[in-house]
Amino acid sequence: MRGPRRLAVAGMAWAMVLAVLPAEAQAPLARPKSALPGAKAAAPPAPAAGPSVPLPKPAPQRLARGERSRAAVPLPLPRPEDVGGSPSVAPQDSAPPPAPMEEAAFAACLKDFTARGGEAIAKADPDEPAKGEGACAIPGPVAFSRVTLPEGPAVTLDSAVTVRCTMALELASWIRDDLAAIARRHGTALAQLKGVGGHACRPRNGQAGAQISEHASGNAFDLLGIKLADGRVVEFSQADAATKDIRAEVQKSACERFRTVLGPGADSAHASHVHVDMRQRRNDFRMCQWDVK
Ligand SMILES: [Zn+2]
Repeated sequence: MRGPRRLAVAGMAWAMVLAVLPAEAQAPLARPKSALPGAKAAAPPAPAAGPSVPLPKPAPQRLARGERSRAAVPLPLPRPEDVGGSPSVAPQDSAPPPAPMEEAAFAACLKDFTARGGEAIAKADPDEPAKGEGACAIPGPVAFSRVTLPEGPAVTLDSAVTVRCTMALELASWIRDDLAAIARRHGTALAQLKGVGGHACRPRNGQAGAQISEHASGNAFDLLGIKLADGRVVEFSQADAATKDIRAEVQKSACERFRTVLGPGADSAHASHVHVDMRQRRNDFRMCQWDVK
């Protein structure tokens, strides 16, 4: 489905995507990995576009680079909150600040987080705004550095992160239900998440003028790799046969669970780590860009 003969339609398909996809103004993410910021008008060398006929939206884990193009073309006009600048112009920070979380909803979320093994800590990120203002507010912030597994031991994060509670709940579930299970399938246990990042008040990829990052509202998480109880460390930037199965399973689980997954192969900003977030897009559009090699 990604054979060389598909490349002939890549340029046209790409142009169509750019025309209808203002919400994917995180253009560095949507462009092929060889494109650099500022080279937006250049013809993409090889986005492996699928057939030009719109097909039903594939499952998230099937959303390889070209398949995203197919899924995106037939979408209706975006809702206002999805409009965030167009790839053909300088991205605008037009995303509204996240709505605050109701106290009762926050309490219920915290309860669920704890039930999933999450251990909230009182101390939040030093760079977290006191109450959170504007685009850098976190609705219902939770700081944590440990998730206890049902079988007993805790998985630690190599530093505490602060994210919104709904994201913390998703992360605890990912660690407990997916990552720990992957480690068990490979004969060991999950010990630590390495190179973690949560809240950060900054534009996407740290680029001035870009849209505000999902990290700014505590809706995103970065991860460099995992450490297993038998001492193995699997870094997602690796490209070795010994860890490929594990990395592929982590990729699959991430793309099934999160709405955005950007890892090695997505662009230069994600060559060394994997970014996941719960950004809501129209029609539940999801991004899964992580080439496991
Ligand atoms: Zn990130």
